[in-house]
Amino acid sequence: MLMQYAERMWHGEAQMEGLLNGDLPEGVAFEIASGVAVVPTFANVIVMRTNEGLVLFDTGAPNTARRNHRAIRAWRADPVRYAIYSHGHIDHVFGLGPFDQEADRNGGERPVVIAHEAVKARFERYALTKDYNQVANARQFANPRFRWPETFRYPDLTYRDDYRLRVGELTFELHHARGETDDHTWVYVPERNILLTGDLFIWNSPNCGNPQKVQRYPAEWATALRAMAELDASLLIPGHGVPIAGNDRVRTALTDVAEYLESLVFQTLELMNGGARLAEIIHTVRAPEHLAAKPYLRAAYDEPEFIVRNIWRLYGGWWDGDPASLKPPRSDRLASVLAELAGGPHDLAHRARRALEDSEPRIAACLIELALQAAPEDDDIKDAYRHVFATLSKSATSLMTRGIYLAAANG
Ligand SMILES: [Zn+2]
Repeated sequence: MLMQYAERMWHGEAQMEGLLNGDLPEGVAFEIASGVAVVPTFANVIVMRTNEGLVLFDTGAPNTARRNHRAIRAWRADPVRYAIYSHGHIDHVFGLGPFDQEADRNGGERPVVIAHEAVKARFERYALTKDYNQVANARQFANPRFRWPETFRYPDLTYRDDYRLRVGELTFELHHARGETDDHTWVYVPERNILLTGDLFIWNSPNCGNPQKVQRYPAEWATALRAMAELDASLLIPGHGVPIAGNDRVRTALTDVAEYLESLVFQTLELMNGGARLAEIIHTVRAPEHLAAKPYLRAAYDEPEFIVRNIWRLYGGWWDGDPASLKPPRSDRLASVLAELAGGPHDLAHRARRALEDSEPRIAACLIELALQAAPEDDDIKDAYRHVFATLSKSATSLMTRGIYLAAANG
């Protein structure tokens, strides 16, 4: 059933939104090849059976841990020997609680968790930025009930560049690459010719620009995808979304995403080297059309425009090239001065509404923000503010943009 859905997604007849919202039964481990199962929740949990027990690749999010455990146990009862984290994002590292408890109850060994060494540093950073992450993620996913976790299942074993794990008759070749994160692991299982990409492949344009999160690494990401493509795997199982079966499809998908990232890096660096400002670069660089049209490169989660900013941050400084933005005035003071020039805050708000009608959403956002900064207690302006950002959130094509605009509308 999962592979039939995968076929439809490959042809663009089904999409991630459907996969994540009930198109497939929830809480099921789908066996997609002999001894290989996928539990498709928000992030995939992948289980491989060996004659010495099960190996998990990723473990899921806190809210799905029990359900995923039940799904896996309905499939196989073998002990879980190892769990590999593709990286330390919380939708990948929170499924082990029930397996640890099960081992404790049975007097067995808990699963050994293997991850890249930077996962530990990530968990330590998460403790330092707990409240920021709470707010940023609630906003990103437009979910006020979102709770950032306090305790983490740390890896038992870490590695730096590559690691070879032998379990029963299978070999798990772990490779580190920076990409979406600085702590990523992708895995190749040569005996089965299976590739586990983690979030280096997510059935969306790469999460490589995320406005509220730390640095990402597009060029290294592309290099990792090309290294994976060289392996000529016959089955790819991604961190999010459906598996891809068939050597040609696997190679095409990997090289397409690599080319997409390489193009954005190349275009951005060329403009940076030419002395362009960030704003000019944002309005010039475009994702190649033939790639943006691929069903696995839809910008429904992150956006190429945000990747450009991330490339600027990685290779340049935080300053955007505009001398006025080096030392900005207080935003409420600037807003008051501009409102005075415009005839008052209501004129700014009125012009913002008109910009919205004239299909100038970016102008509408700037002007209504100024209006509210100039008159934060004015009820008409607050209404206009909510209207502008609610409208922008409805027309947003990516989750990240939608979340930020919705937070503004509801603020
Ligand atoms: Zn993920």
